[in-house]
Amino acid sequence: MQLERDLSFLPPGKNGPWENFLEQVERVRPYLGKLERWIETLKRPKRCLVVDVPIELDDGSVAHFEGYRVQHNTSRGPGKGGVRFHQNVSLAEVMALAAWMTVKNAAVNMPYGGAKGGVRVDPAKLSNKELERLTRRYTSEISVVIGPDRDIPAPDVGTDAQVMAWMMDTFSVNQGSTVTGVVTGKPIALGGSHGRRDATGRGVYVTAARAAQREGIALDGARFALQGFGNVGNAAARILQSHGVKLVAVQDATATLANAKGIDAYALAEHVARERGIRGFKGADAIDAEDFWEQEVEFLIPAALEQQIDETRARRIRARMVVEAANGPTTPAADDVLGERGIIVVPDVIANAGGVMVSYFEWVQDFSSFFWSEQEINARLETLLSDAFRAVCQAAEAHKVPLRTGAYIIACRRVLEARALRGLYP
Ligand code: GLU
Repeated sequence: MQLERDLSFLPPGKNGPWENFLEQVERVRPYLGKLERWIETLKRPKRCLVVDVPIELDDGSVAHFEGYRVQHNTSRGPGKGGVRFHQNVSLAEVMALAAWMTVKNAAVNMPYGGAKGGVRVDPAKLSNKELERLTRRYTSEISVVIGPDRDIPAPDVGTDAQVMAWMMDTFSVNQGSTVTGVVTGKPIALGGSHGRRDATGRGVYVTAARAAQREGIALDGARFALQGFGNVGNAAARILQSHGVKLVAVQDATATLANAKGIDAYALAEHVARERGIRGFKGADAIDAEDFWEQEVEFLIPAALEQQIDETRARRIRARMVVEAANGPTTPAADDVLGERGIIVVPDVIANAGGVMVSYFEWVQDFSSFFWSEQEINARLETLLSDAFRAVCQAAEAHKVPLRTGAYIIACRRVLEARALRGLYP
């Protein structure tokens, strides 16, 4: 008897990130064998917490924000995933982001489930003091479900090491003792890890380099177009440039810029730190926003938000490969178009896994109170991620499917095997 029903708290049939995730799960169904019995597990988040986050603003008034923490799956270990502060955050988005963490952590074999959190707020509109109050109240509200062996938050869009420091402090004050392992992505002075800040960008470079090698593309002299110049895009750009890859187009919420001769990522990073966006950068010319997708490049790197590459944009893309630094930037329909056109997609769950891998290193270092050098961390990241990427390529080749399905085959089998072994209670 089939009693599958849609989740009643979501608007029906909306074609958002959560529906995209459900479609991605359907695509792995034929490759699950006996584990298919458990597939519904992936389509239902284990826990969704919605909280009210009231804070006093600097002018003395009170403002309320909506916050979330979703634990999508904990079959393989505690929940793990970032916290997003953005004005468009919704429960359905956080569910999708948590689900992608489940797949990512399993694809690169981290001993974690998947989780994500967020607050529906534009952090740029808050003063530093208001941001601190928001972070502390949100942490306090979700403290009933987080903890170093339960669910471990980290930075994501709109949050950084300072926000993690406030989260760690709030949790610790409520516990009565310092608990460094409750969040990762902390400042180095508070039990953070060397290499964590640039880890996601470094992982983007590692997977792009391995994919290029397989395709016979030389990195030196190759070109890339980058959407998003936040923590991930910024690091990916600097590291790719240091390996001879040239940034020829860049887009963020403030502008779209191009320069066929190359845009200096370091100079752009300084400009963005000062101006809070790429607009006004002197080393490139402004172009039409939609023309960004048509740039002729070896690597197109979306490093911003979900659903940026839809069917229409997928038809315009003139890149050899798309390397997904963002979570969920390509819709399933766009995946099909890119596949038909012979454009490789290095999927998010492997391309941007460097961040959570170094988060894992941070968590392990916090537990043992023994800290590693940056060199050791980067070397371990490169080895583990390269091995995981090779396994994904092998799975994709063996089943004649795109890399995303290859990654989902490895990851979903791991999650559902754990699920089957643990069994149902009662
Ligand atoms: N927010 C990052 C991601 O989407 C990092 C998560 C973590 O380190 O836990 O993968």
